[in-house]
Amino acid sequence: LPPKILVSACLLGRPVRYDGSAKTLTSALLDHWQNEGRIIPACPEQMAGFSTPRPAAEIADHFSGDDVLAGRARVHDVTGEDVTADFITGAQQALALAQSHDCRFALLIDGSPSCGSLMVYDGSFTGHKHTGMGVTTALFRQNGIAVFAPAEIHDLHERLCRFPLR
Ligand code: SF4
Repeated sequence: LPPKILVSACLLGRPVRYDGSAKTLTSALLDHWQNEGRIIPACPEQMAGFSTPRPAAEIADHFSGDDVLAGRARVHDVTGEDVTADFITGAQQALALAQSHDCRFALLIDGSPSCGSLMVYDGSFTGHKHTGMGVTTALFRQNGIAVFAPAEIHDLHERLCRFPLR
């Protein structure tokens, strides 16, 4: 069977982002994988029980998702509420889904406090990003799932081509 890929639901056109929008990725590769039945959609924040729309959230104080999992950092929404536990719950739910489908790969939207893989916002809610990853990405990577950003979709394609079919 070809390996499955867990994909951020908002990349697939589902309006699940904090502001009620989608961030649809138009890509022949993605269409091809969908036609092959390889795509598992997931939104960790929806899985955590957040409603949509919801207040924007950021990992505080320039930290990254791995710091959140290690208990060194918190996630706050723009109203100041601590939503750390919910972000960890969403990551765990998404991991359980990925593992139930034997996903070895994920394509997640960048910049999100859940799904970011190259950059995240710095916690100041001023639009500044820094190198880092979201909480779901960190948990996926800790569990051997390779996470790619949309800008890296061709790298993901190459990895899939090299992946041994079973
Ligand atoms: Fe998209 Fe991930 Fe945010 Fe859900 S948690 S809206 S899938 S970026």
